[in-house]
Amino acid sequence: MGSKCYDDEKLPCCHSQEHILLFLTRTPWRFSINELAKVTNFHRNSLRPVLKSLVESNKIQTFGEKNHSLYYYNGVIDHYRRIAKSLHSEGDDIKESQRIAIKFGYQLVKNTLKEALTDGIFKFHHHSVHEMLLHVKWAFPFSDLLYTKDGEYRPGTVFTIGDHNTTFSSIDPNDFSVRIHPCLCRGEAESQIACALTMGALKGAIEGTCDIKTEVTWTSYGIHEEFGSYCEYQVKALDPLPINFHHVSDNVKHVEN
Ligand SMILES: [Zn+2]
Repeated sequence: MGSKCYDDEKLPCCHSQEHILLFLTRTPWRFSINELAKVTNFHRNSLRPVLKSLVESNKIQTFGEKNHSLYYYNGVIDHYRRIAKSLHSEGDDIKESQRIAIKFGYQLVKNTLKEALTDGIFKFHHHSVHEMLLHVKWAFPFSDLLYTKDGEYRPGTVFTIGDHNTTFSSIDPNDFSVRIHPCLCRGEAESQIACALTMGALKGAIEGTCDIKTEVTWTSYGIHEEFGSYCEYQVKALDPLPINFHHVSDNVKHVEN
C-alpha cells in the first residue's frame, strides 16, 4: 500500500478555523455541516462554533434556510475572479495576460460544451434572438444562484440588451451589444483580466450554442438601477447569420434563466 494524504486527516499545525477555511477555499461547492463533518472528520458539534465564527468574520458565506445552511468560501463568480487575478501579476505585459485570459475563457466553455453535449454537436435551431441568447446564457459559466432574504432563489447573473425601447425583434443578431450584470470584474475598472476572461467565455458560449464565429469586444461598464453593475460587450458575427429569425412581438429585453 502506498502513502496517501486524505482530506479527513487533521492538520496538527493548524487551528481548526484555518483548517476548515483552507478546505473551503479550494472549491465554489457549498457544504452542509454534515457533509463537512464527514469529509473533514471534525465532529459537527465542534464544527458549529468554527463555522459561526468564520461567517461572523466574513471569511466564509452561507446559503439557504437557517437550519439547512450551506457553507462556502466564494461563489462561482468570485472563484473565477480569483483565477482571473492569478492570470496576471505585476510586471506582466497586460496585453499578453488578456490574450491568455480570452483563450482560457473561450476554451473553458468550448471544452465543457464539447463534453456535455451529445456528439459535440453545436447546431441548434433558434427561432429568435431571445432563444439564441437564452441558450448562450445557459452555457455562460460565470453565474451564481442567489438566496434572498425572502427565502427566494434567483439567478445571480442577468443579460440585458439595449435600452427601454429595445425589443428582441429589433436586435440585429449579427451585431449587437449585450450587458452582463454582474461581469466577473464586478465593475472594478482595474480587473481587465476578468473582463478578458468574460470576453472569451462569451465568444465560446455563442460559438458553442449557435455555431457562429464572432468577434467579442469589451465596450463599457456602468451601473443599472435594477440589475446593478455591468460590463457591455459588442458581439459581431464574422460570417453574417444565414438565419431569418421569426419576429417576436415581445418586449422582453433581459434574460434571467
Ligand atoms: Zn467587466
